[in-house]
Order: sequence, then structure tokens, then C-alpha cells
Amino acid sequence: MIPFLDLKKINEPYETAFQEKLKTVLNNGWYILGKEGETFEKAFAEYCKSKYCIGVANGLDALILIFKGYIALGKLQKGDEVIVPANTYIASILAILQADLVPVLVEPRLETYNLNPDLIEEKIISKTKAILAVHLYGQLAEMESISQIAQKNNLIIVEDCAQSHGAISNLKSTIYNLKSASAFSFYPGKNLGCLGDGGAITTNDAELAKILFSLRNYGSEKKYQNEYVGVNSRLDELQAGFLNLKLPNLDVDNQKRRIIAKRYLSEVKNDKITLPFWDFSEIHVFHLFVIRTKNREKLQEYLTQNNIQTLIHYPIPPHKQKAFPDWNHLSFPITEKIHNEVLSLPMSPVLTESEVDFIIEILNQY
Ligand SMILES: *Cc1c(COP(=O)(O)O)cnc(C)c1O
Repeated sequence: MIPFLDLKKINEPYETAFQEKLKTVLNNGWYILGKEGETFEKAFAEYCKSKYCIGVANGLDALILIFKGYIALGKLQKGDEVIVPANTYIASILAILQADLVPVLVEPRLETYNLNPDLIEEKIISKTKAILAVHLYGQLAEMESISQIAQKNNLIIVEDCAQSHGAISNLKSTIYNLKSASAFSFYPGKNLGCLGDGGAITTNDAELAKILFSLRNYGSEKKYQNEYVGVNSRLDELQAGFLNLKLPNLDVDNQKRRIIAKRYLSEVKNDKITLPFWDFSEIHVFHLFVIRTKNREKLQEYLTQNNIQTLIHYPIPPHKQKAFPDWNHLSFPITEKIHNEVLSLPMSPVLTESEVDFIIEILNQY
């Protein structure tokens, strides 16, 4: 069986280094908010070309804390509306809700699976205060247009980068980089994954960073003095230590993903399969390689029979989930079409050339 994602194989090369790191952390006798965490925060900030990085417990918390940080700063208020793509992973939506803000769903483009900027402005009312852009499957959302809309309407931009570690944008000079915040997840299956839960926030906003360092640690800067109603959401030393070992290989791993994606895109030739859009730039890190097909069940079964494991990201759109009964009657045709037709092919830096050969051959025979 060609697994969809072989995490054991991904982490195997680090085994000795991980064991050494465990020893180091044990010997340090300090397990939360210490040297490893600080080293990682510095390295990841540098990697993202951001001034600040705040390690947190997971990607969902990273998003929630960004919103809570802006509320603490007085830049957002409870009940404010946040534009978010209708076809995102549930965490994007949960983060908005858990910060007592209101998600406003907007359709994606069918071709890129990412937020369609042309549909944002019609949803903006006086209560709209932020856009949560999600770089789904590792492809950057259209940040140039989104930034312009944000600037014109005085909206905050928050980025969900849980699937896009290392996706490079040439928009470094635009406002979205100066006044915004990005949330990352280091869940094991992400492009940069630890051996448990982990997350981080990056930003260039000094005020926001200061509040976030406090909020993640009980709203306290100085022990037993609490300035904010904070939470406990910290990246522990061991996970930070593992991430310090893996971060230097992230670009190489992403390049391997792009090489596989290039092969799928140029060699899969089948009328029944719609391949994802990619302009061959560096801004896609292919967390997932997601195709579309009309009879998904049939294709998935065919691939399983041929020992190729595939997954569906995601089978039910947020507005159709039982958790959100008030939204179930809503209609988002493009989002629903995507959820009905998408299938994720095996994609990871440890997929071998012969495995890719085989997957392409089997897909072309379908
Ligand atoms: C994984 C993911 C998250 C949440 O990250 P966790 O670390 O699992 O909390 C948020 N948004 C997107 C798009 C994700 O893929």
C-alpha cells in the first residue's frame, strides 16, 4: 500500500537527533518556556521574515489568540464580523467563534480553492473588522487583492498558515505584512510537524506581539501578576527542540513536494480528473495535492484496489456541519461542489519516484 502520508518515514531520519534533544531537555531540567522555545521562536521569526514569533500549544490556539490579542488591544470588539472562506478547515471558523466574533462565509474560486476576493466587498458592513485569509492546501490566497480590500475598508488581516509553512510571497512590501498576524500549526502531519501538538504566531506588530506573549501564559508577563484574561497555551521545550531540528530542512522538503506536484500536473492525463491550478511559482508548498472528479467514490475505490491510499479534505463543508445548525440551510454552491468532488493524492517529501510513477500510471488507466 502506498500510504497517503507516512509520518514514521518522515521522522525516521531525525531519530538519533531527537533522542539527543530529549537528553538535552531532560538535563536542562526546564520543560516549558525555556531555551529551546526561545531558539525556535527566533529561528521561525527569521524564517518567516517576521519581527516576532510567539510559540503556542497548537494552530487553533494560534488563531484564537490573534483575535483575542486584537480585542485586548481594542482593535476588535466582541460581535465584530470576520470574513472567512466558506471552504476552510473547521478550525478557522472555530477560532473566530471562540474569540466571540462572527464568521461571515465567502465563496472560494473553484480553480484555486482559495477565497475569491471579488466576493468580499459585497459582504462588508459596518461591523466587518477583519479578514481571515486561509492558504488552503499550501497555496497562498490572493493577498494583493485581499490587502487592497483590507486597506480600503480599514480591516485587519489574519492569515491561517497552518497548511502553508514556507510559501513565499513577493508581496513583502505591502501593508498586509506590516499590520497583520499569521497562525501556524505544527501538528505532526503539517509541512513542519512536531511529535505532538504545537503552534506559533508570527507578526511584525510589536504591540500585538507583547500582548500575545502575555496571553498565552495566563495573561501574565511577570509571574503571579496578571494584566489580561489569558489562557495556558505554550509550546513546550521538547516540541520546540524537535522543531529546531526539523526547521532547517523545511525548504528542501517543500521543494520535494513541488517536484512531485509538477510530475502529477504534467503526467496525469485523464478527462475524468481535474488537476489543481498552479502557476509553477514558489508560493505553493503543496501541503496537499487535491484533484477533483465527478464520481469520487468510484475513483477512490479504484485507487484503494490498486493499493493507493487517498483522503478527502474535506467531506463536509463547515456550513453543513451539525455543530452549526443555524447555517445548515445556507447555500454555497462552489464550496459544496468542492467538498463533493475533491480527493487528495499521496503527497509528502518521502514519496519515492517509483511510487509517483505508479500513482500516475494507475490514474491514467482509470
Ligand atoms: C491544521 C489546521 C488548523 C489547526 O491546527 P491544529 O494545530 O490542529 O490546532 C487550522 N487551520 C487549518 C487550515 C489547518 O489545516
